[in-house]
Amino acid sequence: MPKITEEVYYIPGQDEFMPDSHAYVLGKPSSQNLSLIDAGLTRKGSYKIQSIQKAGIELSSIKRIIMTHTHLDHIGCLAEISKEIPWAELWVHHLEGDLLEQGDERGVYGMDMFRGLCQSQFGLKPGAFKFQVNRKLQGGETLDLGGSVWEVIHIPGHSMGSIGLYHRSTKILIPGDVVYADYAIGRFDLYGAKASQLKESLMRLGELEVDILLPGHNQIVKDLPKGYVLKTARQWESYLT
Ligand SMILES: [Zn+2]
Ligand SMILES: [Zn+2]
Repeated sequence: MPKITEEVYYIPGQDEFMPDSHAYVLGKPSSQNLSLIDAGLTRKGSYKIQSIQKAGIELSSIKRIIMTHTHLDHIGCLAEISKEIPWAELWVHHLEGDLLEQGDERGVYGMDMFRGLCQSQFGLKPGAFKFQVNRKLQGGETLDLGGSVWEVIHIPGHSMGSIGLYHRSTKILIPGDVVYADYAIGRFDLYGAKASQLKESLMRLGELEVDILLPGHNQIVKDLPKGYVLKTARQWESYLT
């Protein structure tokens, strides 16, 4: 599991016939107060847990799981991981956290066709994604995660409760599925998505200085060109109305 900085580890997603989101571990290892960002696709829990252990991180130091959003490719293996670290809290933006607590799975599957496909592929039953959320994020929080300070930014559009995490001093952005490498952006046709909101969210991220982009899928970028996110937003602007 590659180390990005002293406070950020990267667990690459292991895509199958469906994408498995990347996961990140944030915090100073000595703090014993680490945070896992996103879980991943169903059946990828043991891979994620093993990756953490291989990096020499004790599972007991993972205190919480923070979701960038709750699509299946990010939350699919949350229950598998929670079984291994049952003490870990779950932090989600309130708009998707409320859905999880109600067992409303529209925010997980995104569309009905997908629900049927995934439920039969993985043998998932209705109600598989009902979770108690320990902390509902609003956006605007500054979180001290094991000695590492991250700003929470609400960036709806790809999903209603998408958040980005920004580490200002090292200019690292974890944008979930809102923006990727190669000037790509997240889809905006699923439940709770909205093109105009995605445009606003991209513009908002475009105001940040970002050197390292750690998205939910595909390549991570360690030497992001200046103005990259804003340029991406502008390229997509006319499609996002
Ligand atoms: Zn997504
Ligand atoms: Zn995703």
